[in-house]
Amino acid sequence: MKKVVIVGAGIAGLTCGVYAKLNGFDTHIYEMHSIPGGECTGWDRGDYHFDGCIHWLMGSKPGTSLNDLWRTTGALSDDVKIVNHEVFVRYEEGGRFVNLYTNADKLERHLLDLSPRDKKEIKRLCNAMRVMGDLGMPIDKPMDKMTAGDGIKFAFKHIGKLRQLNFFNNIKLADYVKRFKEPLLQHAIFSAIGGDYNANAFVMSMAGMHAGDSGYPVGGSRALALRMEQRYLSLGGRVSYKSRVEKIIVEGGVAKGIRLTNGEEVCGDIVISCADAYATLYRMLEDKYTPEIYRNLFANPKKHYTPTCSLVFFGVDGEIKEPWRGINIRREKPAGIDRLKVEDASIMNYSYDETLAPKGKSVMAVYYMADYDYWNALDQKKYRQEKERLLQDAKAFLIKRYPQLEGKIEKTDVVTPMTYVRYCDAWRGSWMSWGACGKDIPRYFPGKLNGLKNFLLAGMWTLPPGGLPGAASAGRFAAQRITEALGIEFRTI
Ligand SMILES: Cc1cc2nc3c(=O)[nH]c(=O)nc-3n(C[C@H](O)[C@H](O)[C@H](O)COP(=O)(O)OP(=O)(O)OC[C@H]3O[C@@H](n4cnc5c(N)ncnc54)[C@H](O)[C@@H]3O)c2cc1C
Repeated sequence: MKKVVIVGAGIAGLTCGVYAKLNGFDTHIYEMHSIPGGECTGWDRGDYHFDGCIHWLMGSKPGTSLNDLWRTTGALSDDVKIVNHEVFVRYEEGGRFVNLYTNADKLERHLLDLSPRDKKEIKRLCNAMRVMGDLGMPIDKPMDKMTAGDGIKFAFKHIGKLRQLNFFNNIKLADYVKRFKEPLLQHAIFSAIGGDYNANAFVMSMAGMHAGDSGYPVGGSRALALRMEQRYLSLGGRVSYKSRVEKIIVEGGVAKGIRLTNGEEVCGDIVISCADAYATLYRMLEDKYTPEIYRNLFANPKKHYTPTCSLVFFGVDGEIKEPWRGINIRREKPAGIDRLKVEDASIMNYSYDETLAPKGKSVMAVYYMADYDYWNALDQKKYRQEKERLLQDAKAFLIKRYPQLEGKIEKTDVVTPMTYVRYCDAWRGSWMSWGACGKDIPRYFPGKLNGLKNFLLAGMWTLPPGGLPGAASAGRFAAQRITEALGIEFRTI
């Protein structure tokens, strides 16, 4: 039985571990943190649980390939309740608002009421939502292993959708919104996802929600990761926590194992890194095998955006039930917390998940896009001061929108881009990879590095833009690749 050493117990690492176990490998995951999940996590503050990740999970609806993956890995089951929001996000500006309904028909009526002159683009968007919801992610095999026949089969099945997919895939969200004449719609749609993404990221999310396939699993992110860990352990997989990998041991161009920061060395027949790609390529492998495509992306972070954020959580003695997942609010004056000067910020209201707070109480959070370079340059003292300033800004923002919460805040916590660096060694605090289009960005990187045998890179960086589906699929592909390399048929159950 070949021994597979996996670096990182994030969603990619756990998925890789489950599928490798299903295919008979001896697996051991080494994770630097004390719990599984990586970016897909949450933490307790007193009686409150602050969920740090899932807003929507693609593949939440039974019957899709991705849902099969989530069930195989234990992330979802019939016992996990899924919340499908009526409104993806509400946008407020001055006295006006836009509800981004997840149902395309309702959304179309609402947007046409707000801006009849945008009929053409509104129809295009809502039609795309109707037809693209079942497009799904092709995860049966890694993209580079797809044959011409697979491509024809996919094209035939989804004929009519591919042209739309192509349109939204080849336009940046910031440019796409300019096709709408009404500024309120432009702002509402841009702020729904924010950042330098393709329009496709927005449209596919909306389409997934319309199809009922991008819901929220009650219990949240940490619970989901723990279920995956249990599934992995139940198959006989092993995991060591508080075990940070310092180096991948290479002899004669062959990966032989790993060295931990405590000096311990572990041998393996195959090493798969599901940790951050920058940390893997530049530190664990000492930049000896970095592919040009990654070198270019990592060298130009301003050109090739990857998202990070700041988040301020509140445990509040009160509960406000709303049909939306959150509200994006345009500020009267852009916030000057870091150099981004954000024009809007979001308030997330987690009262749809009663497991996160005691009865009658709830969790709310204010979300800001953030400037990694700004936070990274602060010394300890200034960092603490800026976190406090962010907390005060978020508190004022929250209370202005919900004055009934004045005096009801019981717990708070502030997350910055540096939290993701500390917690997951995430490059520039990023928790998704590259979301824009272009030849510089791989649609899928198979993980094999030139000049290095018995090693694979997996995780969200190999399947941009990442996210939970990207991470999990990358983990599964890595397990499939090592199985099929041995001439064994890949088992998925
Ligand atoms: C605020 C927020 C909201 C999000 N919302 C969503 C959402 O709604 N839907 C969605 O699909 N996705 C969402 N995501 C993105 C999603 O969480 C990530 O893209 C995904 O979890 C990445 O998984 P991964 O396994 O590739 O990487 P990671 O989660 O980064 O896992 C890597 C693991 O490797 C470990 N590691 C790193 N270096 C070492 C080392 N040297 N030795 C040992 N272990 C190491 C890390 O500790 C970590 O556990 C969100 C993320 C955040 C932060």
